[in-house]
Amino acid sequence: VAAHVAAVEAARPLNAFLVETPDHALAAADAADAALAAGNAGLLAGIPLGIKDLFCTKGVETTASSKILQGFKPTYESTVTSKLFEAGAAMLGKLNLDEFAMGSSNETSAYGPVVSPWRAEGSTAKLVPGGSSGGSSAAVAARLCAAATGTDTGGSIRQPAAFTGIAGIKPTYGRCSRWGVIAFASSLDQPGVLARDVTDNALVLEAMAGFDPKDSTSLNVPVPHYAGALSADLRGKRVGIPKEYRVEGMDPQLVKLWEDGVAWAKDAGAEIVEVSLPHTQEALPTYYIVAPAEASSNLARYDGVRYGIRVAPEGGSLADMYGATRAAGFGAEVKRRIMIGTYVLSAGYYDAYYLKAQKVRALIAQDFERAFQSCDVLLTPTAPTAAFELGSKTADPIAMYLNDVFTVPASLAGLPAMSIPAGLDAQGLPLGLQLIGRPLDEQGVLNAAY
Ligand code: GLN
Repeated sequence: VAAHVAAVEAARPLNAFLVETPDHALAAADAADAALAAGNAGLLAGIPLGIKDLFCTKGVETTASSKILQGFKPTYESTVTSKLFEAGAAMLGKLNLDEFAMGSSNETSAYGPVVSPWRAEGSTAKLVPGGSSGGSSAAVAARLCAAATGTDTGGSIRQPAAFTGIAGIKPTYGRCSRWGVIAFASSLDQPGVLARDVTDNALVLEAMAGFDPKDSTSLNVPVPHYAGALSADLRGKRVGIPKEYRVEGMDPQLVKLWEDGVAWAKDAGAEIVEVSLPHTQEALPTYYIVAPAEASSNLARYDGVRYGIRVAPEGGSLADMYGATRAAGFGAEVKRRIMIGTYVLSAGYYDAYYLKAQKVRALIAQDFERAFQSCDVLLTPTAPTAAFELGSKTADPIAMYLNDVFTVPASLAGLPAMSIPAGLDAQGLPLGLQLIGRPLDEQGVLNAAY
């Protein structure tokens, strides 16, 4: 733990950590020593973790990378971090992210972008670590922590994992409690893990998952011993290849990577089947209606009264204070989402956009249900490209949203999905493959990934 504390300090130029908590980490390490000596150590005794700054941590500043929450110190601990600490984990600090987890490159953070530890061969250009869990992916990839928590609403664990050559799992919606996780889009948000390999993902997920009566969408089902049950034997399993993911103009390197994945699955004994998910193309536009709609509602609470900063113009009304606080506190991407969300929920457009998106969402979920009648797990690429240069997509929101084309369908359907490092492109940058499983079948996903 002490070595990791020092590594975090030495890596400050990456801007992965917003807050460092060395005292917390070292105290947990001492407690782990004592527990190990007493023979009652938890699953993660003394394991140094980074915590995405979307998880409320008692007494430790939690901002969701937004200016509007500057100085907010929660009076309570999120369920997920409580469980991790009960298992003995040592928190090194709070990790940078896109503001309120809205983004795919960690560039919307009010506290500056995170720099990926990776560089393209022969280049010094700085690359994005992916987003929104970009602090988490950079910190794990740079070996600053053994694992990190992430949250995934439309790909925010899987895409950053793919961009930084690590593994990340988003479990089934409802598997991990959202209590104490700052809300973005509540019907999609799901905590999960970023770590170096599948075994570490399995261990950390086991520690953080489980029923929580404080989250009304939490699933009351037992959590398996994921790591203990890992098996790389895929005999008798069918791996589905959804043909609609083979989009026109796909990078040939990605096609090759996918073919490699198919070959590995065959070597492990799996049968390969082609499946169809006919509404795949509709997933991205559906997501970018549903997620902003929920965000606009969730973010209404930031009004300068209850948390974070307050900007009150001299002699102004209450409404002036709300307006000035929100104008100063939210960044451009968050404002864009609030405007889109408010628009699609407004009386005149609700049926045409929000209601329609909800119906398409149901069709997307049905596609997966049908596909899982003929296969056990799906294999696809995680993201359409490798990591790109900092600043190269910030002027074009649509180009940024296109990053999520392969990850949002599983989010809309609430399915467990994982990205694993699968190879390097011609510039030496990591590329990821995605595995998507049936509801609650994290074990099947982990095993295929393993
Ligand atoms: N990139 C997607 C978005 O900007 C997903 C973010 C996430 O999963 N939190 O909404």
